[in-house]
Amino acid sequence: MSDDLAHPRCWTGTEYVHTCHQPSGRTCVERNCNEKAGTPWGPYWCPHHDANRLNRITDSLDDLKRSNELG
Ligand SMILES: [Zn+2]
Ligand SMILES: [Zn+2]
Repeated sequence: MSDDLAHPRCWTGTEYVHTCHQPSGRTCVERNCNEKAGTPWGPYWCPHHDANRLNRITDSLDDLKRSNELG
């Protein structure tokens, strides 16, 4: 597991325990998710999907970096 996963303070090493939840009064924008949204990273996603979203972004940045290194 990488050290730069999303929500480092919520990541226990085996699972996320989202102590970050800051309900914004919105509902998660992810399809089929009715969780209350709101984290320090934004008001639109629930903590679970926010972490997924940030991890996806990190992954695609890594991919980009890797393809640049391969030249
Ligand atoms: Zn969290
Ligand atoms: Zn959600």
